[in-house]
Amino acid sequence: MSAARFAGQVTLDGPSGTGKSSVARAAATRLGAAYLDTGAMYRAATVAVLDAGVDPEDAEAVARVVAAARIEVGTTAATERVEVDGTDVAERIRGAEVTRNVSAVSAVPAVRRQLVDQQRDLVAAADAVVVEGRDIGTVVLPGATVKIYLTAAPEARAQRRAAQLGLTTPEEVAALAADLRRRDECDSSRADSPLRPAADAVVVDSTDLDREAVVDRVVDLALAAAGARGVDA
Ligand code: C5P
Repeated sequence: MSAARFAGQVTLDGPSGTGKSSVARAAATRLGAAYLDTGAMYRAATVAVLDAGVDPEDAEAVARVVAAARIEVGTTAATERVEVDGTDVAERIRGAEVTRNVSAVSAVPAVRRQLVDQQRDLVAAADAVVVEGRDIGTVVLPGATVKIYLTAAPEARAQRRAAQLGLTTPEEVAALAADLRRRDECDSSRADSPLRPAADAVVVDSTDLDREAVVDRVVDLALAAAGARGVDA
């Protein structure tokens, strides 16, 4: 197998807690591809909104603040770079306040248009790229080489997220499960670019698979699709 010769775009969409980010990073590394975390961009936009003191539910004000913000993300799997107006926010975007407010910010159509344009520019600069998000296969890159929709049972997702965050008590896990459900509901029911699999996506259920098995599947699907398109993989 000559993974380094993969060329094309792999989209990895799905709800939170499926292990999407770690799978996307590992697959990008194995394929010798760039990596784009679009969720980090919506989280960075949320930092700008919170710092501006604007109500995240006020769509007009949110659109105005985000339009004026310089949001920059890196495209390598090995290092995470996320900046708002030159300030490193890589840690802050994972905090509870941002997580609580990101669905409201990401539901604003003007914010989506701005960040989707930026995502397409970043993708255009790479020969090979793995892009993760919610609407990558459906909206951002409808012509991608291969589209994967990663899913898992809600209990498995809550358990995984809890382990990542070091939460152990039943109350903490229950609160986290409720937050995941709320975010899924917001992301799936919004009018603009709702979370759903593209018609031509391969759905991978990771409930009973360990991370390596999911990465293997993503890499195999990417190489097979690139091969079918005549790319030397
Ligand atoms: O993937 P992550 O959990 O970091 O994404 C945070 C939020 O950003 C999601 O809950 C969703 O509201 C939004 N998002 C989106 N479209 C994307 C990626 C993320 O709306 N392509």
